[in-house]
Amino acid sequence: MEFLPICLRLVDAPVVLVGGGTVATRKARLLLRAGASLTVVSPTLSNELEQMLTEHLGVWRQARYSEVELHGKTLVVAATADKVTNEQIYHDATAASILVNVVDSPEFCTFIFPSIVDRDPLLIAISSSGRSPVLARILRRKIEALVPAAYGRLANFAGRFRQLVKDTIPLDTPRRLFWEQALEGAVAEHVLADREGKAEQQLRERLRDTSSLHVGEVYLIGAGPGDPDLLTFKAARLLQSADVVLYDRLVSPAIVDMTRRDAERIYVGKRQSDHSLPQTQINQLLVDLAQQGKRVVRLKGGDPFIFGRGGEEIELLAKLSIPFQVVPGITAANGAACYAGIPLTHRDYAQSVRFVAGHLKEDSLEYDWSQFQSPMETLVFYMGSVGLPSICAQLQAHGRSGETPIALIERGTLLDQRVLVGTLATMADIVAHAKPRAPTLIIIGDVVRLHKDLSWFSQAPS
Ligand code: SAH
Repeated sequence: MEFLPICLRLVDAPVVLVGGGTVATRKARLLLRAGASLTVVSPTLSNELEQMLTEHLGVWRQARYSEVELHGKTLVVAATADKVTNEQIYHDATAASILVNVVDSPEFCTFIFPSIVDRDPLLIAISSSGRSPVLARILRRKIEALVPAAYGRLANFAGRFRQLVKDTIPLDTPRRLFWEQALEGAVAEHVLADREGKAEQQLRERLRDTSSLHVGEVYLIGAGPGDPDLLTFKAARLLQSADVVLYDRLVSPAIVDMTRRDAERIYVGKRQSDHSLPQTQINQLLVDLAQQGKRVVRLKGGDPFIFGRGGEEIELLAKLSIPFQVVPGITAANGAACYAGIPLTHRDYAQSVRFVAGHLKEDSLEYDWSQFQSPMETLVFYMGSVGLPSICAQLQAHGRSGETPIALIERGTLLDQRVLVGTLATMADIVAHAKPRAPTLIIIGDVVRLHKDLSWFSQAPS
């Protein structure tokens, strides 16, 4: 992070703005709105700026920058058309440890002005760290459309009752739950419709019985195969509400980062033959955390109910009547196949698809291989990288042609996704040579032929 977003209290703070043109006028408007005690230094002023200064009791020093003393100021903004002066201001200010912004020159800024969605007292600041103010403004427009105009009123309303709610519900987790229910439910609707009396009545009523707030809940969430954009809206929403998140190795760090900053994160990842937390302990941990009244998110790669042991994890919750929800995710087969341009079914090549666990148990795959013989069925092997030579050999030994196409998708849907294509006869050698990195998925069947025409995702040559 190049700039840390913080909100600065500027009421009555001495601020110097150097420049009197259009850009300076824009900055002055913001600074005055924040209550700064503003001095504008410039030989000339735009009419609008002059008017603003009169209105807000700002000071105009009709002078050049060289005549100005920065000492004691809280911050300074350089908005002159002269590069040399702007840079001089930057050097003087930093030497005196004064916050400085040279407009349109992020390299000469110790702070920058974000784009703001203003629902005062609610503020949303968007910054591109000076890379693309236009992009920040586009994003701002989108957020403007999402956030109701009356949200400021809602923030003020919540502010009025903050202390009362804190005194009534001293524990953090149930208190947050209380506010979430209030601010997303009927109380908020009343405030937004300008019926604050009714809102207050509702809020006080709910404060009288808070027992339901002390029960925890578990959300078993599918995080998809890797690309964070493949998360569902529901998953994103519940992630935001979690007090604690348990995640494993297959979950993208970008998705774990979508949790609240103060949420606890617990890694319970598994690698083949390296179970960092045994399954029974994970199951128990979910129960313990929920019984402490926490909202617990258990994030799993792909879909929780496909080779994810999701069923085992909620069994104990169900038995103990702990509330839970399961949120489906895009499973690796769906994600990787789409990004690799391999339709899992196709009228000409495959009428069915079968997901198979491909890991070895004591060095052998115990399947009835004769069930995998239909040429019109796509086979997808999860966890099959170690077993790949054995899978190829067994399928051929039980009658599948050595010419049957097979693809191995490495790190599907991630930016470095790679697709290796071969046949049952050649694939073991191709993979031994290419040494793909986990996770990998194997797709077998004629649909693999479509990959070369239908793939759109950038990929390394296979
Ligand atoms: N519940 C998960 C699967 C867990 S089993 C799901 O629905 O996707 C773990 C296996 O999933 C890995 O060994 C690998 O075969 C597959 N896998 C998961 N993410 C993958 C990815 N991004 N690319 C390729 N394979 C992946």
